[in-house]
Amino acid sequence: MKAKLAVDGGEPVRRTVLPYGRQSIDDEDISAVIEVLRSDWLTTGPKIGQFEAAFAQQTGAAEAVAVSNGTAALHAAMYAAGVGPGDEVIVTPMTFAASANAAVYLGAKPIFADVEPETLLLDPNKIEEKITARTRAIVAVDYAGQPCDYDAINAVAQKHTLVVIDDACHAVGGSYNGRPIGTLADLNTFSLHPVKHLTTGEGGVITTHDSELARKMRVFRNHGITTDHRQRAEQGGFFYEMVDLGYNYRLTDFQAALGISQLKKLMGWVEKRQAIAHMYDAALAQVDAVAPLTIRSGVSHAYHLYMVQLDLERLTADRAAIFQALRAEGIGVNVHYIPVHLHPYYRQTFGTGPGDCPAAEAAYERLLTLPIFPQMTNSDVEDVVTAVEKVVEAYQK
Ligand SMILES: *Cc1c(COP(=O)(O)O)cnc(C)c1O
Repeated sequence: MKAKLAVDGGEPVRRTVLPYGRQSIDDEDISAVIEVLRSDWLTTGPKIGQFEAAFAQQTGAAEAVAVSNGTAALHAAMYAAGVGPGDEVIVTPMTFAASANAAVYLGAKPIFADVEPETLLLDPNKIEEKITARTRAIVAVDYAGQPCDYDAINAVAQKHTLVVIDDACHAVGGSYNGRPIGTLADLNTFSLHPVKHLTTGEGGVITTHDSELARKMRVFRNHGITTDHRQRAEQGGFFYEMVDLGYNYRLTDFQAALGISQLKKLMGWVEKRQAIAHMYDAALAQVDAVAPLTIRSGVSHAYHLYMVQLDLERLTADRAAIFQALRAEGIGVNVHYIPVHLHPYYRQTFGTGPGDCPAAEAAYERLLTLPIFPQMTNSDVEDVVTAVEKVVEAYQK
């Protein structure tokens, strides 16, 4: 007999909802923040440079620039790439809207190129057909934590003299053919939001091998002013010059201190995420109607997200019903993402819509995000698997 689903009034698998992602904060993190709160510098102090050096060291990048959030990181990267009014920026649709929004902030037009159906990563073969005389940059997203095919993407970019931006918000700690995330594109952007691998509450970082681009972004995050508050304090002067239109995209020192403390634990957390993903892989191999995404050889997947695709031909319910049923079982499933070109803003402003990126649109109907974060216990993982089996069995054709 099939178990009665919680959505139909049955016993849920869990009484408390397991979220899809969650930060890990320990006493060391808390002490690091308190130490800065007691110091003279709450912002623009010494912790920023220390955090940037630690982040660069961790990712193997020459330079890291800290900013106030991942969206500011994308904005700064596009600015450094020289994106401006009338330009076109090629973007994957399978991402959070900010990847495309940052191009719009600079007056450019996002052009959506489709993803590979099996990985949902930007398809290098779909990039070239979107390139025009106005194309300036390509934004690839390491969706779910799997690095894109940078050999192929960088080859297209080189051929057409385009800047490659890796929106690496999902993938810190991952690698591609032995090369770490943070070194694969001209500019690589990270978010330090609590659902991501590392957190500073809100925060962002851009890495680059180009010190001139790093310098530009440090000016950009400080209103377009060439000296910061601390440099002026050290010089004992008042004079400063605003050389370009920038923003206040600064990270605070207590956030940077949290970031330094979090970075020490990054690789252990990535391993924990990979271990959870392998448990899911093994258990879900037995469930015909649910398939994880394909992982390419030569990559180390950082597993910001664990995504599955539903085989709707084998099910009597659609994704919305399966989603509701799993939520009722106490599993905080999610959906990443509604393809960006389908959002009303993009349809109205840029005339995008269904049919533009068929692979992303087809995947969207089937996608489900299962919980994954380092503090999950084996019993949490088992609950997710139990709930997926229970729901899928109830809706099996
Ligand atoms: C989280 C995220 C962002 C935005 O980062 P914020 O820090 O929330 O501004 C951008 N792109 C991707 C792919 C993300 O996952």
